[in-house]
Amino acid sequence: MSAENPVFARILSQFDHLYKKVQELYGPKSDLDGYQFSRVILENNGPHIRFFDRDPNEVAIALNYRVLNDEPQGLCQLAHEIVHLLYVRRDKKANMLEEGAAVNFSIYGPIYQSGDYRDKIFSYLVTEPCAKNYADALDLYRKLPSIDDKAIIKIRAIHPDMSDVKPGDIQRILPGVDDGLAAQLCEKRQMRQISAASDRT
Ligand SMILES: [Zn+2]
Repeated sequence: MSAENPVFARILSQFDHLYKKVQELYGPKSDLDGYQFSRVILENNGPHIRFFDRDPNEVAIALNYRVLNDEPQGLCQLAHEIVHLLYVRRDKKANMLEEGAAVNFSIYGPIYQSGDYRDKIFSYLVTEPCAKNYADALDLYRKLPSIDDKAIIKIRAIHPDMSDVKPGDIQRILPGVDDGLAAQLCEKRQMRQISAASDRT
């Protein structure tokens, strides 16, 4: 049913573009995680990376059903989750570096029909109390390009799972990162305070 929905179909039509672009920006998807991406689905508790008990190696991206009424929100969710697809781990909790990279890509990755949608995301991030962790992650992430515009690619070349890095690893790879920023980028927060099922987003 969902795949035949025209809004969902238009969201999915940007998958290949986003998947290619994310790897140009943040380095190739790692095969070391052992997971096989299968498809994009819709769920009530999305968005998140979805695991399956019947096939422990399969992963999907679950978007929230609400995106059927909000196409740009669907693209935003898809782009964010594609960053988490670069290295999947079932017990993973993403650090601020990965969440910041995901928020950044959700803003700049998709082709939004409306030119002001990026501004809407920014104003949502700065005004919504529940988005504060994502706004903080983006702020931290945005300190990196002035230090090294290939920061994530360089980190992932050595640590394919960017949520696995320690502050010292970041500073060895990017000597311009000070102690405070390195520690903050490695911090892991409960990003959304909705339910345990949302931990991985
Ligand atoms: Zn996330």
